Amino acid sequence: MRVCVIGAGHNGLVAANVLAEGGLNVDLFESRGKVGGMAETLEFMGVKVSRASYVLGLMPLSLVSKFGIPTISQDPFQTLFLDGQVMPFWRDHERRRKELSKLGLTDYEEFDRKLIRFKEIVEEKFTFLDAPPSLTEIAEAAEKAGVEEVVRLTSRQFLRRYLPRYMHRAFIYPGMEDAPAYLVAYFFSPSWSIVPGGMGTVAKVLAERATSLGVRIRLGSSVSRIVENRGKVKGVEAAGKFYQCEAILSSASPVVTWQLLGETSKADPGVGRWVKYNMVLRRMPTLPQQLIPFSHSILDLEAGELLFHSVLDGTMGGTVASFMGDMGELEEVIPDLKENLLGVDVLDASKAEVEYNIPGGNLNHLPMRPPYLFDGRPGYRTEIEGLYMGGAGSYPGGQVTGIPGFNSATALLRDWKTLSGHT
Ligand SMILES: Cc1cc2nc3c(=O)[nH]c(=O)nc-3n(C[C@H](O)[C@H](O)[C@H](O)COP(=O)(O)OP(=O)(O)OC[C@H]3O[C@@H](n4cnc5c(N)ncnc54)[C@H](O)[C@@H]3O)c2cc1C
Repeated sequence: MRVCVIGAGHNGLVAANVLAEGGLNVDLFESRGKVGGMAETLEFMGVKVSRASYVLGLMPLSLVSKFGIPTISQDPFQTLFLDGQVMPFWRDHERRRKELSKLGLTDYEEFDRKLIRFKEIVEEKFTFLDAPPSLTEIAEAAEKAGVEEVVRLTSRQFLRRYLPRYMHRAFIYPGMEDAPAYLVAYFFSPSWSIVPGGMGTVAKVLAERATSLGVRIRLGSSVSRIVENRGKVKGVEAAGKFYQCEAILSSASPVVTWQLLGETSKADPGVGRWVKYNMVLRRMPTLPQQLIPFSHSILDLEAGELLFHSVLDGTMGGTVASFMGDMGELEEVIPDLKENLLGVDVLDASKAEVEYNIPGGNLNHLPMRPPYLFDGRPGYRTEIEGLYMGGAGSYPGGQVTGIPGFNSATALLRDWKTLSGHT
């Protein structure tokens, strides 16, 4: 059976791998001249930068090891510098909890335990699925494990229960405060790691593996239409040609997928307001004294999130840093930043909307809040026979997880086996 996969972001690449491994004949269409989507390494001023995503931490370890994705595990994985206090987050649970409790954060231990317990449940029961779960299913499982507040409370209520207000920003993105505390758990991970060579390496490894399994990766091939007849897929039109296929798996945003069917979007992607600065520096600038021992860690500052990739990865070709936040405020914390800045690539939501074809510049394809959580996100199967969705817009959502790509491809393979009588 021939399958057309739309989009060679990391999810499309994961899906192509799974489908080819399952014995299907796969064509992967990508609008851009390179693979990876928002998992991209940009060659810029003679160095490498992780253009959009910059750390890997939400991909299940089973997928990281299945696909052989290399990582560098910095420890502490993250360091908060808020309200004049340095808070290192160590990978080891006990060390992390002890150190933060010592810093006067007496309720931190319980907060961390609850998040980790909840994440274990999600990993065990709600990760590799045939269809998205409902909020009720997740809440019931959380209740049984005594961590129902992670689902029942809003992020704001949950954070207030355990942490001083100045710390909240490190655990939740703006706009998610009134959504279930599930999101605090979703983004919390003691596995946040750096990928050598930048996040494009994730895509490179997946693309090489897919090619060796026979996947044809068609770069510069933008799909302009999904062709269906009487509710059944027939193929895609790309770069002025028609490609017949019996199944289509789209990892493009669901809004784009509906447009390709000639339908108006059933969802509102919102309007992104983020800005990311990819900096090339003459040398390492002078950090506040307390932060120097943690310069290899993800630094969460009042100004935003900062990462010096080159401290840990000598393959970047120079001193490079990623920053998402307020540049003016960052210059106050690091006064010699400006004089050491050789160049900066600025990526914002409106630029990304065009470059990655993500409506609204939404880096999660659809908002990560109700009504787009759990089974409020599109399922892997659609109303059209043979059409599947498996990008960040599907459950469980955005970030470099590989889960929607893996689950949608597995659902497609299962349906194919049932229909064709294959075992
Ligand atoms: C600034 C920024 C920082 C981020 N930081 C992190 C981070 O540190 N860690 C993390 O885990 N996540 C991070 N994210 C989010 C993460 O990068 C994304 O959620 C994730 O990469 C989405 O992957 P995807 O494969 O589902 O979709 P995408 O990466 O959007 O890939 C979809 C692909 O489909 C292609 N496409 C679209 N339409 C068509 C068409 N019609 N025909 C053919 N091809 C098409 C696109 O060109 C694209 O290559 C960040 C994102 C941004 C923008």
